[in-house]
Amino acid sequence: MKFDTAYCISLDDKLSIYDVRDLNFDETVAFDSAQESFQCPNDECRAAFDAANQLGTFNAKNVNYLRTPHFKNLPGTLHIESCPYRLSKGAGSIEGAAAEDEREEHFPSELLLTRREYTRRPSSPTAAVETPRDNPPVAPAGLQNNHAGRDSTPDKTCVFAHPVECFVSNIDDKELLKRMPLKIGEHTASYASFFKKIEYLLDNKGLIYWGKIKQIKDYTQSFRIDFEQKVWFKAADESKKKPYSVNVYLSKKLVDNYRKRKAFLEEIKSAIDSQRELYCFFYGVTPTLQQVPSKKNPEATFGVFSANIENLDHFVIREAPGLHAQ
Ligand SMILES: [Zn+2]
Repeated sequence: MKFDTAYCISLDDKLSIYDVRDLNFDETVAFDSAQESFQCPNDECRAAFDAANQLGTFNAKNVNYLRTPHFKNLPGTLHIESCPYRLSKGAGSIEGAAAEDEREEHFPSELLLTRREYTRRPSSPTAAVETPRDNPPVAPAGLQNNHAGRDSTPDKTCVFAHPVECFVSNIDDKELLKRMPLKIGEHTASYASFFKKIEYLLDNKGLIYWGKIKQIKDYTQSFRIDFEQKVWFKAADESKKKPYSVNVYLSKKLVDNYRKRKAFLEEIKSAIDSQRELYCFFYGVTPTLQQVPSKKNPEATFGVFSANIENLDHFVIREAPGLHAQ
């Protein structure tokens, strides 16, 4: 069984690896997973060992990653006999684990549109100079009941990258993607139908749209992301369908005010320079047909499907091997 979450001692809460990534890149909170201590999410198992019995992370701090982020056992990590995570992949054969870990198995059933809030457990004045090892969890097992209501499975997430990773890493398993449900706001659909190819955006509003990036333009006020695929659309004054380009704009003001500004700029700048095939995923806006002035002939206009991204938390640029065949 893979770790769906891990217990973070300082936050006294169970976090998915996507929560950890989100916190690492968030410039408004002091959090560095390399300095934090993570333990088995099974309460009984954790209580059986001291705070030095920890888990490690994989891809927790890498902005651009290929292999699925996850928690892993460290060489000395122990679990009690009855712990469901005892036979966690990553503990046994390294080769097998590496292949298996490329797949995200924990599908959140809901993407929450409001961010999760954390409270760092109050530390004594001396705690800051102590290493985590000398600072075992204060709360005995009985006191952890305030989390009893939260199943350790990350059933809901507020980190957009999590459902995106589920979709991308399981793209070869269409049946699975059709089976797994995803809810966002009032809308529930399978992963297979919630993720919509950008060229079919006219089918339904309010989905997660994705497509291969043709180019990214860095303008003074904004970034513009052009998609490779076009939308076929019949305008009222036309007799048949015509292909229209699709793009999304990200205003620089939005980026500058983003809590993960540094990580975001690193992501988009490396995407601009990249020769790799990159894909863009976004939720929250649906591109609509707009008339824009032509560069060559300012008198003329042409139609393009376009949208302004409103929330960078629901926007991802990444490599996605396997999607090109779709
Ligand atoms: Zn355990």
